[in-house]
Amino acid sequence: MKSYLISILVVAALAFGCSNAKDDEKTKPHIVATTGMLYDAVINIAQDKVTAEAIMGPGVDPHLYKATQGDLAKLNKADLIVYNGILLEGKMGEILGKLGRQKPVVAAAESIPKEMLKSAVGYQDAYDPHVWFDVRRWKYAVKSISHALITLDSANQHFYEANTREYFQRLDSLDAYIKNRIAEIPEDHRILVTAHDAFVYFGDAYGMRVEGLQGISTVADFGLKDIADIIDLIIENNIKAIFVETSVSEKSINAVVTGCKEKGHAVRIGGYLYSDAMGEFGTEEGTYIGMFKKNVETIVEALK
Ligand code: ZN
Repeated sequence: MKSYLISILVVAALAFGCSNAKDDEKTKPHIVATTGMLYDAVINIAQDKVTAEAIMGPGVDPHLYKATQGDLAKLNKADLIVYNGILLEGKMGEILGKLGRQKPVVAAAESIPKEMLKSAVGYQDAYDPHVWFDVRRWKYAVKSISHALITLDSANQHFYEANTREYFQRLDSLDAYIKNRIAEIPEDHRILVTAHDAFVYFGDAYGMRVEGLQGISTVADFGLKDIADIIDLIIENNIKAIFVETSVSEKSINAVVTGCKEKGHAVRIGGYLYSDAMGEFGTEEGTYIGMFKKNVETIVEALK
């Protein structure tokens, strides 16, 4: 009888324990971010005070991405939506605009002062959206996410503020690390040739000339003239390596390697760079800091 009673109590405790944990998850604010970089900022600031998910995983091209039915369901149940803006999520503008009339929707990168933005290569009146590749610019986006979380969940204001300060310190260390590593490349070799122009802010912030084949958005096609120009540039500057991006096809870069070879200059593919998407969640490259460090290592090792 006694053991029977105990087991009832145990079962009851387990049941209540479970339902309490579930209720807890249910009452936490739910944040949906478009890209992995934004999701990473959300969880660094909010940690276990929210539940969060990213719509675009590794290898996804945000310029071309269309929201699926599943994404729409996620966006509809979100308490806060965080997206990059500056037209990065080119095909999601309409749905994000519509949701913005129903719930808090934050275009994090649009909090960067206009004078710090660069115009998009080949597009008049449009800015370059790849702001995450300069830590200093990206901190504005992180700050706006922090503000949005505090507005949504003011009970945890101090927690969010403390985490934002701590994360900013880690971002400042990252910034210093990048500057030190790039300094290892001889000055006349600081030229980064990639498939599309995702690294304009990177070049601006860290003193590298950046040449992309495909224009600012992966939507724009490259022509034969672009390839010929890049081949000339590589040969003139005796560039050792060029780079492929994880969310862009290798086709254009392979055409450049072949073109150089035909003219007697061996250029190799220096490795893959993360551009518009990060690595697998749960790995080092699945975090903003880890992804950025990996890129810098790849670039420095190939060009120095
Ligand atoms: Zn891009």
